[in-house]
Amino acid sequence: MRLIRPALPRRLILATPALLIRPAAAEAPRTPAQMEGPYFPRAIPADADADLMRVAGQPREARGQPLLFEGVVRGRDGAALPGITVQIWQADAEGIYLHPSDPRLAQRDAGFQGYGRTVTDAAGRYAFRTIRPGLYPGRTPHIHLRATSADGRLNLTTQAYFPDSPQNANDFLLARLPAESRALLMTRLTAMDSGQRATLDIVLG
Ligand code: FE
Repeated sequence: MRLIRPALPRRLILATPALLIRPAAAEAPRTPAQMEGPYFPRAIPADADADLMRVAGQPREARGQPLLFEGVVRGRDGAALPGITVQIWQADAEGIYLHPSDPRLAQRDAGFQGYGRTVTDAAGRYAFRTIRPGLYPGRTPHIHLRATSADGRLNLTTQAYFPDSPQNANDFLLARLPAESRALLMTRLTAMDSGQRATLDIVLG
């Protein structure tokens, strides 16, 4: 006697409920933390808004290549996180920080704010108008960033990098990260009418 066993249609196999359950491993990887570094401002400047190219009371804008630094902050489940405070601080076009310990503080660009702060909107978006940070000894160009929830439970301090910086290959802080983590701190660069856009999406959790 011949056993007739019709093959189960492929579509049916793929629709088996067990295969539709997403394992916890599908959660997005957290944005890696990096050290705060020595140059978080000792005193937050009077003008601390999201436009770092324009300082209240200064007659001209910052020197350097304009940069729109932006992205979305999400939880590990992919949901956008509104109300997250995002702070950035970075060197000016000549690589000088707004900090008394910077040896070249006297030559700092007074038209550059050096620090800025914003809060993510309903879609989890943040955006800063800034410049490409200049080089300073021993590092590849980077923007320091801190993202904090209102209740303080979510708190990340890290640094954002640029994929086109030749100094990335020799940076001691980037070098100690595995390649997957390095990729999560690398902005995506796109050209704009004036300057560039650097996008870094952040995952907190
Ligand atoms: Fe730095």
